[in-house]
Amino acid sequence: MNITQYNAPDSSEFLYWGKASLKNEYFIATADEFFYKFLGSNSCYPFNELVHKDDVSDFFDSLTRLNEGEQHLLLRIRGADNIYRYMYLKMYYNGKILSDFKSIDLELSDIISINSKYSKQLLNLKKYRKFLSLSRNLFYEYAFATGDIKIYTYFNEKSHMLIHDTLDSFIESFAGNNNISKEDRDSLYRFKHNIENGTDTFNVSLTGIPLSVYPGKLVGMIGGATYANDVKHLSVGLLLVDDNDSTHTSQAYYLSEAARDPATGLFNKKAIREYTINRLNQYPNSSTYIAIMDIDDFKTINDTYGHMFGDEVICKVSEIIRSVLSSRGVAGRFGGDEFFIVFENIESEIDLRRLLKTMAKHFLWLYAGSDKNFNVTVSFGIAKAPDYGTSYEPLFKKADRALYIAKAKGKNRFIIYDEAKHGESESADDILLLKNVIKNDKKVQIISDISCSLIKNGTAFIPHSLDMIRKYLDIDGIRIYSKHSDSVIYESGEYSNPLSSFDYNDVNEYLLLFDDNRMLASNNIHSFEFKCKAQYKFFTANNINGFVEIYNLLDEDIKYLVSFDVFNRKRKWSESDISYLTIISNIIIEILP
Ligand code: GH3
Ligand code: MG
Repeated sequence: MNITQYNAPDSSEFLYWGKASLKNEYFIATADEFFYKFLGSNSCYPFNELVHKDDVSDFFDSLTRLNEGEQHLLLRIRGADNIYRYMYLKMYYNGKILSDFKSIDLELSDIISINSKYSKQLLNLKKYRKFLSLSRNLFYEYAFATGDIKIYTYFNEKSHMLIHDTLDSFIESFAGNNNISKEDRDSLYRFKHNIENGTDTFNVSLTGIPLSVYPGKLVGMIGGATYANDVKHLSVGLLLVDDNDSTHTSQAYYLSEAARDPATGLFNKKAIREYTINRLNQYPNSSTYIAIMDIDDFKTINDTYGHMFGDEVICKVSEIIRSVLSSRGVAGRFGGDEFFIVFENIESEIDLRRLLKTMAKHFLWLYAGSDKNFNVTVSFGIAKAPDYGTSYEPLFKKADRALYIAKAKGKNRFIIYDEAKHGESESADDILLLKNVIKNDKKVQIISDISCSLIKNGTAFIPHSLDMIRKYLDIDGIRIYSKHSDSVIYESGEYSNPLSSFDYNDVNEYLLLFDDNRMLASNNIHSFEFKCKAQYKFFTANNINGFVEIYNLLDEDIKYLVSFDVFNRKRKWSESDISYLTIISNIIIEILP
């Protein structure tokens, strides 16, 4: 259903969340002002009469299920203007009996406004976090339900909890100290009393008590209670800190220009390094991912569009990092096109991967479809603390190595360091890969050497050329099929299944998937499960996880097919890899009889 019409110009004033309780015959017993505003004079009707006739059976059906628990519905409900709107309705028994009727609570949200309200609130949240981050004071939050108090500092739009304790023990940790004056002790108890009584707003001054968890002295507390559903929920407020006589607090330093990269506003190299060291010292056991990120082929961007435009790309990339990262970490610019990110509030590697993919998508789209129309891609090398180090230097080294491998494998990817795969004592295959880390310009040289040798030496050179391609282009297996002899005529690499013939009947529908250059590349064979079942079976039986295939024609019929395969791992194909493989296979096909 299209509900655009519900997005009336005045929808910002429209009810987005309202609550009511029903009494017998589904009349409204009480409601909040939003609810009354939405229903207007219709609030005198039984609620079921306000539900659209096509939805009313859903409504009654859910009433019969209330014993099972909360019910959630999407219903059209008639508002004050007698227009039906799609509303999200939550219903549950509230535990009251009104005139022998088990009263029901309703929570009603206008679904079209949920989205806009959510976006607005997110922006508000960001704004308040920024405010809080700029304050040198501490923040407290006391929960009436548990009697616990939490003390926070806000920094870089993130809260950092410094203390979590019971209120009693928190107050005693100060008041129990013999060095504080009687006046300050009395003030601390007044603070406690105000919190516990849920005073609306209070203000208590101290002469100054040193804090152990934060630089500066505690000079006062202001706060007050908040309510949820007419019940005291939290007492929240500020612990006022005087940091005049504490020299250069770390927070003041991080907020200062001395810590910033002037072009992007991110931390500079020195500050992000110090920040990371502090973070690792402060939370030695919690997981922190550090990432080095480098823009791919940035020199080309500079060369093509000029240095000034290159600077703009760096700024835009920084904005994306900041916005996607939000409160989940801190970023710095190392200089040039290199950045450093500390990911902090990340639950798992899955979360990290999702975040990195989101970032990569934003970069990719930055100039796509613009007059310049190119894709910005980046490579990340990542290392996790405490798994691969508890201090900066070893973690940095590992992230750097992972970045090196990411670039070598063709860029536009992230590699999370894994000792078994990327460690110093890696398998022979990995050593081979690292030794063969070859930049694109070197690859061109190798491809051209192979091509010349093929042309000069003919088919005799094919076996050696296949071995070289596997080695330098990071490919696991290469096969050349001939239709004429119905067999594999050349093979390099360890295929798990021998192949005696090549069944072209099955393959005809598969060949339709190739492009105009008779080339098909994939790094995800799962898509073939539906597109071409026979071929999918073949790939899985041979442990092929990705491939580039090229064939040629003789009298409208396939003659040879060259297949470059990757076994049991992910291998992304860059445009240039595909071009190189296409050139080589066309030459091979050309010299074959
Ligand atoms: P790779 O994919 O391997 O990262 O290659 P790349 O072309 O990105 O090269 P690399 O990262 O090694 O070099 C980054 C280049 O960025 C080098 C320098 O010319 C340029 N550069 C460094 N600082 C700035 C800057 O502030 N602004 C601009 N526009 N370019 C810069
Ligand atoms: Mg670069």
